[in-house]
Amino acid sequence: MTLALPVPTLTAGPAGLTLEGVALADIAAQFGTPTYVYSRAALTAAFNAYQQALGLRKSLVCYAVKANSSLGILSVFARLGAGFDIVSGGELARVLAAGGDAGKVIFSGVGKTRDEMRYALESGIGCFNVESAAELDRLNEVAASMGKRAPIAFRVNPDVNPNTHPYISTGLRSNKFGVAFTEALDLYRKASKLPNIEISGIDCHIGSQLLDPAPMAEAADKILGLVDQLASEGIKLDHIDLGGGLGIRYRDEEPPTPTEYLAPLLARFEGRDEALCFEPGRSLVGNAGLLLTRIEYLKPGVEKNFAIIDAAMNDLARPALYDAYHEIVAVAPRNVPATRYEVVGPICESGDFLGHDRDLAVDTGDLLAILSAGAYGMTMSSNYNTRPRAAEVLVDGSEVHVIRERETLEHLLKGERPLP
Ligand SMILES: *Cc1c(COP(=O)(O)O)cnc(C)c1O
Repeated sequence: MTLALPVPTLTAGPAGLTLEGVALADIAAQFGTPTYVYSRAALTAAFNAYQQALGLRKSLVCYAVKANSSLGILSVFARLGAGFDIVSGGELARVLAAGGDAGKVIFSGVGKTRDEMRYALESGIGCFNVESAAELDRLNEVAASMGKRAPIAFRVNPDVNPNTHPYISTGLRSNKFGVAFTEALDLYRKASKLPNIEISGIDCHIGSQLLDPAPMAEAADKILGLVDQLASEGIKLDHIDLGGGLGIRYRDEEPPTPTEYLAPLLARFEGRDEALCFEPGRSLVGNAGLLLTRIEYLKPGVEKNFAIIDAAMNDLARPALYDAYHEIVAVAPRNVPATRYEVVGPICESGDFLGHDRDLAVDTGDLLAILSAGAYGMTMSSNYNTRPRAAEVLVDGSEVHVIRERETLEHLLKGERPLP
């Protein structure tokens, strides 16, 4: 039986929930809790959905590393032939360590340092997504000092109307990302005259958790207008990158499939030469992972009942940070009426909750699975309250690979010292 749950390879059987047929209870017994558990089949299916939607079109899907940068996850995508969208030198090191192809790496971010530029140029990355005039000058300088030419795209803000699409947050004139649409033409002209810059493409990224293809199509129209204007001035681009942002189901959202999302874009690109690139993060990993946790205490209260678990906001920050909703299910629900709980962690903050008002048929010591935790989960984790970070395992058919060991207190104290 497949549950009506957002994680595609999660099913309920007599031994409780299983992922790709492996019992979550067995994973907890072997590796402890809290543990992030990912499904290789779900990661692969999510990537292939993009590839199938793109068909034979010249294209590259660059996984946005910040969504989940664990080497085990990156290596799955590297083997599928993915490119990677990075935002730091550290993420580049991860991609290379996981076997990713430097030539398929694009480097986004508003604050690239000289050291990061040098490292990326040495590694031979595919493209820098430049986000300001000052960054362009710095990159030209660094490339010159190395006797190289840096391939670039400008990240342009298409300024898609926020009133019609209120969830868009990064493609507007008013935020720190990218260059204004109205300045882009001049910047390309300037870049075309710099000796150590090689113009390669154009980029935009309008927001995250998008559930409607319309704003992307609107952005693509604006970008294409600009591309054609550039061509008329003799500035020809080899790729157009439309960013990431496709949403996923956490609760009852109904996001388009990659095929539905890409259809209006592919229609606009019919007959064009440029390679079409995307930078999806959440939609490749979000629903391929869950956070497995155990109930430490049940604490009935006058107004609320609390289920105190061994995972916390340091493990999964999204509920505390964004008031984000994650489905929480009992791994082996008991045959008793459900009780309504505040599901909270042990951290000394009132904001340390994983879910409000959840109906669960559970007892102390039972396991819970916090779903849709594959994206912006582990990468946003911290050691707040001196809590070692969770282990991560990747289920691959009948095998379970530890892709990150649970942190120990030695890891946490390493590099620190008291005053002599
Ligand atoms: C975060 C980010 C992405 C990925 O966004 P998702 O919503 O996870 O798909 C892609 N490109 C850039 C530049 C980003 O900052």
